[in-house]
Amino acid sequence: MSKRDYYEVLGVDRNTSDKDIKKAFRRQAMKYHPDRNPDDKEAEEKFKEVNEAYEVLSDAQKKSAYDQYGHAGVDPNMRGGAGGFDGGFSDVFGDVFGDIFGGGGGRRRSSVQRGADLRYTMDLSLEEAVRGVEKTIKVPTLVACEPCDGTGAKPGTSAKTCSTCGGMGQVRMQQGFFSVQQTCPTCHGEGKIITDPCQHCHGHGRVEKTKTLSVKIPAGVDTGDRVRLSGEGEAGSHGGPAGDLYVQVQVREHAIFERDGRHLYCEVPISFIDAALGGELEVPTLDGRVKLKIPAETQTGKLFRLRGKGVAPVRGGGAGDLMVRVVVETPVNLTSRQKELLREFQETTDDSHKKHSPKKHSFFDSVKKFFED
Ligand SMILES: [Zn+2]
Ligand SMILES: [Zn+2]
Repeated sequence: MSKRDYYEVLGVDRNTSDKDIKKAFRRQAMKYHPDRNPDDKEAEEKFKEVNEAYEVLSDAQKKSAYDQYGHAGVDPNMRGGAGGFDGGFSDVFGDVFGDIFGGGGGRRRSSVQRGADLRYTMDLSLEEAVRGVEKTIKVPTLVACEPCDGTGAKPGTSAKTCSTCGGMGQVRMQQGFFSVQQTCPTCHGEGKIITDPCQHCHGHGRVEKTKTLSVKIPAGVDTGDRVRLSGEGEAGSHGGPAGDLYVQVQVREHAIFERDGRHLYCEVPISFIDAALGGELEVPTLDGRVKLKIPAETQTGKLFRLRGKGVAPVRGGGAGDLMVRVVVETPVNLTSRQKELLREFQETTDDSHKKHSPKKHSFFDSVKKFFED
């Protein structure tokens, strides 16, 4: 994969000062920030690229290595340990955005902002996952403050446009020959000033609340599937749209069944008599029991397939199968009479291993050959 030149990514040249590199990064990062481009894969890639370029060009040592050797000099795969771009750009982000947005950390944004998405992990039993279920969950979140309707201003009053920046959230400062754009010191980038804050939310416009929600989980879900509840995430700030809530499914282990996609597996013990002579077993399924015929001379570990007794996946495609593995149980707690019968049985088979236990016979044949060779 060919990588773009880091200077090109930030739209600067090699002689650009550190300060202007930082400015260029802010500009690009704001343009491609995921919050501004929800569900836009291309913007996300660009955002990562911009972060990667900045991480190198903002570090004197890495920058000089890059200038000398190009990408090979700063191969991200060579970097030790933490700090992968996928893991989190918050370190770079917090540093640069902290001052733009007035010390509120990376999340503070001028004026209207979409609320954060939330994730909730829901534990389900296998039966619930297979049949679908409706559950009530409690999610701690931020909701728009009711008394002030999310504005943060005391009911009956409203926020005033900041007179310092005229509502832009940014002001231009003259620094020598340059005119530099800066966060408005009066409104901290908000563009508005609340002179009379709402007492309920202290001017934040949002309050913490534990929401009770009813979630419908469709039949056939599996661990890792998620259900999106649009608009049930955190409330946006200053009247911005709410984020989404993602309910992530986690299916608990089952005492009897193991699931592998559409198929279910279970192990059923059978007696050595049934295994030898054949018989009928009662086998559990997710919705009851079925009879399973075991043919004579069934070996331990044999798999029987019960068609359509598996799981119908949520994405469609029909139910899978239930695979029953029979395991021959060696009898225990035998009476002396039973032991006697078995010894008697053994005597009848002593000289005819080849006939009654072909596997055992051929195995010991191989062992014998192995030691002779
Ligand atoms: Zn202002
Ligand atoms: Zn309020």
